[in-house]
Amino acid sequence: MTQNSQLGPDPELDPAGRVDWLRDQIERHNKAYYEDDAPLIADADYDALMRDLRMMEASHPDLISADSPTQVGVGGEPSSQFAPVQHAIPMMSLDNAMDLGELKSWGDRTAKRLDQLGYSQAVNYVCELKIDGLAVSIRYENGQLVQAATRGNGKTGEDVTENVLRIKAVPGHLGEGAPEVLEARGEIYMPKASFEALRDTTIKNNEELVAAGKKPRPVPVNPRNAGAGSLRQKNAEITGDRGLAWWCYQLGAVRGAAAPGSHSASLSWMSQLGIPINPLTQTFSDLNEVYEFCSSWITKRHDLPYEIDGVVVKIDDLALQAQMGSTAKAPRWAIAFKLPPEERTTLLHDIQVSIGRTGKATPFAVLEPVFVGGSTVALATLHNDDQVKVKDVRPGDIVTVRKAGDVIPEVVGPVLELRPDGLPEWSFPTNCPSCGTELIRRPGEAQTLCINPKCPQKRLAELEHFASRGAMDIEGLGENQIALFMDKGLISDFADIYSLDRDELLKYPRYGEASVDNLLNAIEASKSRPLANLLFGLNIVHLGSAGAEALVAGFPDLASIAAASVEELSACEGIGVVIATSVHAYFNDEGRMAVIDRLVEAGVNVESPQRSSLPATLEGKAVVVTGTLNGFTRDEAADAIKSRGGKSPGSVSSKTFAVVIGESPGASKVTKAEQLGIPVVSGEDFTRLLDTGEIP
Ligand code: NAD
Repeated sequence: MTQNSQLGPDPELDPAGRVDWLRDQIERHNKAYYEDDAPLIADADYDALMRDLRMMEASHPDLISADSPTQVGVGGEPSSQFAPVQHAIPMMSLDNAMDLGELKSWGDRTAKRLDQLGYSQAVNYVCELKIDGLAVSIRYENGQLVQAATRGNGKTGEDVTENVLRIKAVPGHLGEGAPEVLEARGEIYMPKASFEALRDTTIKNNEELVAAGKKPRPVPVNPRNAGAGSLRQKNAEITGDRGLAWWCYQLGAVRGAAAPGSHSASLSWMSQLGIPINPLTQTFSDLNEVYEFCSSWITKRHDLPYEIDGVVVKIDDLALQAQMGSTAKAPRWAIAFKLPPEERTTLLHDIQVSIGRTGKATPFAVLEPVFVGGSTVALATLHNDDQVKVKDVRPGDIVTVRKAGDVIPEVVGPVLELRPDGLPEWSFPTNCPSCGTELIRRPGEAQTLCINPKCPQKRLAELEHFASRGAMDIEGLGENQIALFMDKGLISDFADIYSLDRDELLKYPRYGEASVDNLLNAIEASKSRPLANLLFGLNIVHLGSAGAEALVAGFPDLASIAAASVEELSACEGIGVVIATSVHAYFNDEGRMAVIDRLVEAGVNVESPQRSSLPATLEGKAVVVTGTLNGFTRDEAADAIKSRGGKSPGSVSSKTFAVVIGESPGASKVTKAEQLGIPVVSGEDFTRLLDTGEIP
């Protein structure tokens, strides 16, 4: 159930009341979305309301009315701000398949219908990306753009000719052979880069407004709404400045030329005339290939420079399309396979603050849990005090939450229209929620800090980091175990981990013999981790894993790093004065040195590895590896590069020397390498690259 579908009259006790309530909600959201370009809820939450209404009407047919949103045409009413345009051929919506199961049902239904129509030949299906933008119909007369209209309610759209003429991606004239009349239908959209630029500018302006004590302006939530709002502008110049683009996906009315017999042929014809047709469109004759193509975009969507919300599948043969016909809202010869939602609206219950391992106090949102981007999200970081102010989110707001792929969930902003009257602004706590010490924010810095070294939450975060993968990698020692052991007084610093007692641990109900032994074995194994892992695990401010590696390369052991001056430390390649000063200060603290002495006594490795005897063929060169290489694990490949003097960063930049591509490489790394012109080396040539240091 969603945030919104939980509201309203009970479907069992008052079905008629519930149907009325759902219709009111949907109509209100239709107006906000189609007419104002400022939706109040995320698409997935709107879709849930529609689904609820359809289900209610299916189980109570007596409640169906001709004006129900399930029965009437598409979209919203055209705005009086623009002149009306009658569409000669209506602009329809599409039926949706919300998952692969629903898509397959459509495939089965279509196959049955074709059978009933007596159609026995193979059928071609055209699969197109479903661009998340605003549908427009653009009319060319004798090759000249004469009119552009939005879809509106499907029959009457809005005249946006002046605006569309300013969009560079839309050709003003067609190439040779253009007919007397040609209507090209497609989606005007805002590419991700244009959206991010608009969003960044708004946030920057808001920072200035907030600093001057003024109210921030609403931050654009997503490219779809920003794109639609940018097109439907009174001032067409604004439309021209917003970096909008266009993909055409349908031929409308044609005069003065024989229209092609298939949808794919009509796309090719329009492409020849200079109209942008998405090159990722593909045609299949096997429905299984259609299903595969559709589901492949669930992950590949993130590699595109624009947003899609699905894949549209269309029967290619236009005569067959005509035979299959349409419902009042949508054609029967097409279906939109919707990708799982990456945006939801939900209630922000509270904003709380957590203390990290460096003492940084980070505000985070406590949300009514929502399923978004493939998982349930209940918490999301808000980064810092300024971000909360700039986004103007307050406990009690309905907020938009976004989670795209592996990216951490983000609270995009509040839905201001739904803000309860008098909702107070949130203010950053003055004291640490864990230890009560006053929090400080130094002038000119964005971070707020708890500076109490004994703060329990800070300690917990430090210990968690020490035991984490990139540091001492102690499996089975996570946040919950550390919190328990701290609570029982068994550990309070890193060295205590190495004196955990088997008999003591066995006293705790959740710890059986096997789990205690596994934990103690993992702790034992951590003693032989490389020195760089230990250094990284010690939580030295500014020292990341790359810095730790650089120090280890310059000194024989931990004792000499601890004894080195700032100058000696900063003489290491990759260590600047800021890191050197922080490392020096860390080891100049008696309390910390006492813990380190106990780590040494416990037998933790504090020696740098033997210098490599291999030739430094890759000295100073950054080599990125992506995909699986034959004969090397990921770590072995990185070690092989490092032991030849090179670096093995996780992402491609203009400084990358080469990108080694194994099996199933990351698409974004390959694309970035292509964009930046970085040499690409195949997995088979990796050893030659190691041996020679040159691109094979
Ligand atoms: P739709 O978005 O599900 O599908 C039809 C539209 O897809 C077409 O009109 C066209 O604009 C677009 N499209 C993109 N690529 C296409 C292609 N290759 N071929 C054909 N069409 C293509 O239907 P709709 O009627 O435009 O809108 C309904 C949807 O809009 C809802 O499911 C919901 O997600 C969203 N909506 C949201 C709210 C809200 O409050 N958040 C309100 C109303 C509607």
